[in-house]
Amino acid sequence: MFNLKPSPADPSPFEREAHRIADPLERLRYLRKHVPASVVLPEPEVSPAELFVPAKPKLWRFALAGLAIVAIVGGGYAWLGQRPAEKPAPVVHAIPAPGPTPNHIWQVQLTQTEEVYSNGLRIDLSFATRNRPRAEYPIYAMESAAPIGTGNTPLGIVYHTTESDMAPFEEDATKQLKTLGHLLLQYIRREHSYHYLIDRFGRVYRVVEESDAANHAGFSVWSDDRGVYVNLNDSFIGVAFEGSTNQREEITAAQVSAARALTELLREHYSIAAENCVTHAQVSVNPLNMKLSNHTDWAREFPFAALNLPDNYTRPIAAVEAFGFEHDEVLTGLSGGKDWAGLRISDQRLREAAASQGATEWRYRGMLRHRYQEILAELKRQQAERDAAAAKGK
Ligand SMILES: [Zn+2]
Repeated sequence: MFNLKPSPADPSPFEREAHRIADPLERLRYLRKHVPASVVLPEPEVSPAELFVPAKPKLWRFALAGLAIVAIVGGGYAWLGQRPAEKPAPVVHAIPAPGPTPNHIWQVQLTQTEEVYSNGLRIDLSFATRNRPRAEYPIYAMESAAPIGTGNTPLGIVYHTTESDMAPFEEDATKQLKTLGHLLLQYIRREHSYHYLIDRFGRVYRVVEESDAANHAGFSVWSDDRGVYVNLNDSFIGVAFEGSTNQREEITAAQVSAARALTELLREHYSIAAENCVTHAQVSVNPLNMKLSNHTDWAREFPFAALNLPDNYTRPIAAVEAFGFEHDEVLTGLSGGKDWAGLRISDQRLREAAASQGATEWRYRGMLRHRYQEILAELKRQQAERDAAAAKGK
């Protein structure tokens, strides 16, 4: 997500220079190269505590370039006294219906640049890179800050949107679509943002190797029958759709088909439970204000059914029940006016748990939040240990 401040009234030197470049894509390249050094950038939404866990992908740099172009183009229209043409109504891409699930998926081809699987999935390897090895992750009970177990293989998938610059999904824009996808891949490879990217044409790219953690989930919480998981970079695989939650209609049918094939493969490979295939908005939390959905990608309309998954918006939200996180009207807006059904269940359970202990809801939430802070402190200590060990090994 990007929280960019409006452009200043006076164009900076880089904006003036960029204005002279006629080709929009060349202009984009110029802006991407110069923005970080030339502009006072907004503070990214990184809390001091995020210094010890990989921060969320900083795609604001990429977005800033896009926004700068929008500002420049908009400014040009204003200067000419013309108005841009009305934006045509968005094309809603038909979402494929769920189909039969294969019993077993196997690899049918492996080259230096591609893996092909029996369910039709093709994974492009040309951007694959290493990050850091996946660390053993703790599993918590609802009632305790002490871990009840550990895991070391992926137990779920978090789906994202890249919130990056988009071109219209039209044949005439093919060159632009390809260029934007390529620039995005370069960016997320550098930042180790996700394990997989699905571009607008439905092409699947491995970015961070599955053996490694990707910086995709930040502060996050999820739970299943085994327990509660905190900060999911090590325990969940990050799959990003090139797209924007606010332009939901721009997610293409090809992307949804590819996501289904990729989900099938990952679920079989790691025995991932269907209820652990969830969206970033469902797991993201903000420890500073103790609110849910710090990141809002896929807060609504994730095509669970088309991916042969149950509607996981109905799943309880562990961040509420285990750690006393709250939600507000922002989430109601993001979820299209419908709070997730699972959230209401978790709110109810929290109230019942407080009552059973003879505590007020406020006091009970305070106790849960204290437990969460203890867990964060312990995770911070473990991360510092790993960093120190890695520094020693160098
Ligand atoms: Zn995300």
